Amino acid sequence: MTVMPSFPQAREHSGLARAGAVLTIDLAAIAANWRALAARVGPSRCGAVVKADAYGLGAEHVAPVLAAAGCDTFFVAHLDEAIALRRVLPGPLRIAVLHGPLPGTEAEFLAHDILPVLNSPEQVAGFSRHAAVLGRRLRAIVQTDSGMSRFGLSRPELERLLAGDALQGLDLVLHMSHLACADEPGHGANAAQRQVFLDAVARLPGVPASLSASSGIFLGADFHFDLVRPGAALYGLAPQPGMANALRPVVRLEGRVLQLREVPSATAVGYGHTARTAGKARLATVGVGYADGFLRSLSNAGAAWRGGVRLPVIGRISMDSIVIDVSALPEGTLSPGDAVDLIGPEQDVDALARAAGTIGYEILTSLGARYLRRYVHH
Ligand SMILES: *Cc1c(COP(=O)(O)O)cnc(C)c1O
Repeated sequence: MTVMPSFPQAREHSGLARAGAVLTIDLAAIAANWRALAARVGPSRCGAVVKADAYGLGAEHVAPVLAAAGCDTFFVAHLDEAIALRRVLPGPLRIAVLHGPLPGTEAEFLAHDILPVLNSPEQVAGFSRHAAVLGRRLRAIVQTDSGMSRFGLSRPELERLLAGDALQGLDLVLHMSHLACADEPGHGANAAQRQVFLDAVARLPGVPASLSASSGIFLGADFHFDLVRPGAALYGLAPQPGMANALRPVVRLEGRVLQLREVPSATAVGYGHTARTAGKARLATVGVGYADGFLRSLSNAGAAWRGGVRLPVIGRISMDSIVIDVSALPEGTLSPGDAVDLIGPEQDVDALARAAGTIGYEILTSLGARYLRRYVHH
């Protein structure tokens, strides 16, 4: 069943009456997705990646809901993200910084009870020196590179550290690595990276291990190790493109119709006159643009939807607005102030991303700051 996009009765002077677009984020769906992933990987544990403001959806809203669902390990990219997250996630919930400590920030990790992911010999040495200065062992996560060449110790670097004493001042609470091609189940790199990781895991016996993010979870139990680190799947993105997505959609984006017009055949539309109407047409101007993350690559490519009817973008995406062809809707059924779906039941984030020539991750993390955001809990 399709639910027509509609703005709830907007009271005068409310944010809703003023909003050019409304972004609805279903926190209950995020919690349900986490529970489904946790059940799939059990008895392995399931963490949550809430970097980039929980993929644009608002980490301060998302993380506490995940904690209430049972998640106890959270990953962000930057220390500043972790410090902000600590305000809404009390200890003993674990917060880890994927980028590890920048030189001179070691003390801040301790001050805020944040775990660093130590990615390089320099980061291991810096944190280990800090442990020596304090005269106590410090908890940390170590990452080894299993074949992505982005973050993590190479095998020779790990061997040099094992031969020295830098690791001795550290209590390693997790050993992680990251897959480069997990969204392609048939890619040979998956099994190859798993084997490289297994060999490294054997060199750090007793340290819990973690290899998989969202897509890796769906490569099977061999890839689950002790902890998985999903981000995208929590937010409803399809973990394996082309396969049925069992996760619940999380985001709905409704744009406001600002103006309607009827135009004759061959009317030019938008900047650069890159499009002309094929016949007599009805056009609607909607209040989202590339400044809101409605990417310019959707020019003459994307679409809005209303009640199962596709309403194609015509012409270029402007900074603050788009024009859509609404001729397919029965006359008189759309008025200024009404809503059209930009992300919704007929067009999920992944579908919009395909139209834009990108991936759902980029659509989510580009979602605009001007949207009126509504968080729903059911
Ligand atoms: C971003 C990230 C994740 C989460 O990836 P998804 O594909 O969004 O599940 C997990 N681990 C690391 C190291 C990451 O950088």
